[in-house]
Amino acid sequence: MRTLIKDLFLDSKKFLNKEVEIKGWVKSLRKSKAFSFVVINDGSCFQDLQIIVDQDAPNYEEVSSSLTGTCMAIKGIIVESGGRQPIEMQGKVPSIIGKVSEDYPLQKKKTSLEFLREVAHVRARTNTLSAVFRVRHHLAQATHKFFSDLGYYYIHTPLITASDAEGAGELFRVSTLDIKNPPKTDKGDIDFSKDYFESETFLTCTGQLQAESLALSMGGVYTFGPTFRSENSHTSRHLSEFWMVEPEVAFADLDDVADLGAKYIQYLIQYAFEHCPDELAFFEKQYQKDLQETLKHVAETDFKKITYTEAVEILIKSDKKFDFKVEWGSDLQTEHERFLTEEHFKAPVIVTDYPKDIKAFYMKLNEDGKTVRAMDILVPGVGEIIGGSQREDDYEGLRNRIKECGLDEKDYSWYLDLRKFGGAPHAGFGLGFERAIMYITGMSNIRDVIAFPRFPGNASF
Ligand code: ATP
Ligand code: MN
Repeated sequence: MRTLIKDLFLDSKKFLNKEVEIKGWVKSLRKSKAFSFVVINDGSCFQDLQIIVDQDAPNYEEVSSSLTGTCMAIKGIIVESGGRQPIEMQGKVPSIIGKVSEDYPLQKKKTSLEFLREVAHVRARTNTLSAVFRVRHHLAQATHKFFSDLGYYYIHTPLITASDAEGAGELFRVSTLDIKNPPKTDKGDIDFSKDYFESETFLTCTGQLQAESLALSMGGVYTFGPTFRSENSHTSRHLSEFWMVEPEVAFADLDDVADLGAKYIQYLIQYAFEHCPDELAFFEKQYQKDLQETLKHVAETDFKKITYTEAVEILIKSDKKFDFKVEWGSDLQTEHERFLTEEHFKAPVIVTDYPKDIKAFYMKLNEDGKTVRAMDILVPGVGEIIGGSQREDDYEGLRNRIKECGLDEKDYSWYLDLRKFGGAPHAGFGLGFERAIMYITGMSNIRDVIAFPRFPGNASF
């Protein structure tokens, strides 16, 4: 049975002078006359294991002339090391599991992140990507633990839906109609009643509406799943397929979920420090100076909270030249969000109570009749990481907003029912999981924190 390199370093004393077998991929190999240094990584942790293979070992010729990337199994004895690491292995029985051909793309020590995206099928062999994916794993575990410890239930909402919850029209169609020759109605439109679901259907862009139904039955719930948006955003913060964490809480208002969002982000940071210290140290060294100090500070400091109206005042008062004019009523652009969080507050900030006209139909209207109980959490370097709101729980109020937004009441009848059948105040938010990973690792492109990114023009791998 193979031993994980992670376990060797976790309790190296236990393994001293014992024989183990490790299996992994060659990071580097240096051959001298009497022996070879083989550095192996098996992906279980950040550290590599250095192995000294003596020329008397079986297969020595073949093993010692192996290329970077070769998959090997090596049996040997764990001994103390005089080098940078506490232990190394005296390799006794090396063998090759999988050879590497000459066109292996990760020959060179230094390769750009852009290049690695083109070889996404092997990029998890690099220090950077494997570190990202380990952090991603731990943040997923942290997410379940955080919400489950609060008593919220993990629910699964459908990926195929007939409604555009955001009303933004950025959905991918799901259809089995013959696109070359679709059935037509008398009016000449495509007849979706002949389609698989007998209606127009799409990949979901949020699980919120269904989560509301379960929150109004189970109290606190959360989803954690893929969402799809066909927005034509070629930015470093948008994917066409991304993972969203969406808590929905009955008997909660906007302030409650704003606090919940802040606590959740702080919990993710603490969890990463506990479970991925080597990875965070690496990201700090390689990608973002002060990463760890900044994160520690954020984990310990209450988030600033301002209203949209206050944010607009701050932006207008600043002498900063923006490409987009700041005006009460128009949405905050990325440059505005960045100014607030990176220059003005130099910390995460929660912005609340946006104008109703730039937000979705389901958000609760304030008494001023102009703003809604919405909130975004913005963080330095990434921008918006959470978007949430208190939901309109008033039946007539919600009907009005559906009409005002030009939506068809019929499409939302079950959603309206939730306000008739024992409704309650409730609120929730969506956190973009990849954006959280970007923030905590300091990686600056969202395409580098998901194994196989989907974005406009690309569904390779
Ligand atoms: P943005 O203004 O950045 O496009 P949004 O206002 O469209 O975000 P919401 O609809 O509120 O975002 O979605 C909730 C969260 O999902 C966002 O705060 C963000 O973290 C994440 N998110 C939204 N769109 C994307 C995307 N295309 N790729 C990755 N994450 C996204
Ligand atoms: Mn968007």
